[in-house]
Amino acid sequence: MKRFSVLILSLIICNIALAQTDSLSTQRPDSLARPDDITPTLAIFAKGNGAPVDTLDVGDGRVRIVLRDDNTWYLIKNVEALEDEEVFSENWREHIVNPYIGTPLDSIPYRVTICLVDSVSRFVCPHKGRVFSKFGIRRGRKHTGCDVPYPTGTPVYCAFDGRVRLAERHKGYGLAIVVRHENGLETLYGHLSRMDVVPGQWVHAGDLLGLGGSTGRSSGPHLHFETRYCGHAFDPEWIIDFERGELRKNVFVLKRSYLSPYSRYVPETIDDEEELYLTEEQIKAEEERIAREKAAMKYHTIRAGDTLSGIAVKYGTSVSKICSLNSGLKPTTTLSIGRKIRVK
Ligand SMILES: [Zn+2]
Repeated sequence: MKRFSVLILSLIICNIALAQTDSLSTQRPDSLARPDDITPTLAIFAKGNGAPVDTLDVGDGRVRIVLRDDNTWYLIKNVEALEDEEVFSENWREHIVNPYIGTPLDSIPYRVTICLVDSVSRFVCPHKGRVFSKFGIRRGRKHTGCDVPYPTGTPVYCAFDGRVRLAERHKGYGLAIVVRHENGLETLYGHLSRMDVVPGQWVHAGDLLGLGGSTGRSSGPHLHFETRYCGHAFDPEWIIDFERGELRKNVFVLKRSYLSPYSRYVPETIDDEEELYLTEEQIKAEEERIAREKAAMKYHTIRAGDTLSGIAVKYGTSVSKICSLNSGLKPTTTLSIGRKIRVK
């Protein structure tokens, strides 16, 4: 709150300062510097068309005002002022995609509240439109990001403010860039054809990172985009609505269960909303119940001569129970050898 008041005060002071500046005060009132809408928008410079010509420091140095040549202005976070934040020094390696080797999944809280954008930071969607290959298990392999169509040479812009941690050639990702953000998230941009940033460089949402391409393990030009927390990838669609090119929410509740290639985005239900009011103990009990259920699951791989009734007897269950556990399985279904079916 205090920081917010300082910001408001700084803005007022700054506005007075602007009004008193010679070059501006001689102009008609309607051409005085005016603020853009400071809510996050897709097109970062949508409100004014002028080119940025000057930057003014305000308050504690964490925020800057950028003036455009059409007398509009917008606020921007002074990312370099974040240099002392631990998030930009701990587990900071410039040549390892996942530097959080000592951070196992069970050491991460059940829920982490993550502020994606605030009033002085923005989001620029890496791609507006369809995701053609989603996060999750793909042909038996883990796909730890979203693939979006991206012709070679198309500019790749940074999604959020942050600092470039890695920018180099990688066997699978090809030319890849990882940017770490103030909230601890990292975004990864893979298969690029050119890189325009270097590790350690501070970047704003919308800054050019490089150009799209098809380097590394890639079947054609596309952008492989990942979101990671403590080294664990989660489905970017939990936070981004690619079809609309927007964030789903400005504040995101990351559940530990999302940090798995088996956890693909599903639209939130009322239950999820209610879960926000559960205590840590209740969530822990629920996760333990789910874990027990998972541990109790049993699978059977079909061998020559197997019948559903024979399998049911073997596992002490019934044919109808087995069918209810496997979508599309009917008592009359021909069992193909090697197929794995759930029996409990
Ligand atoms: Zn991919």
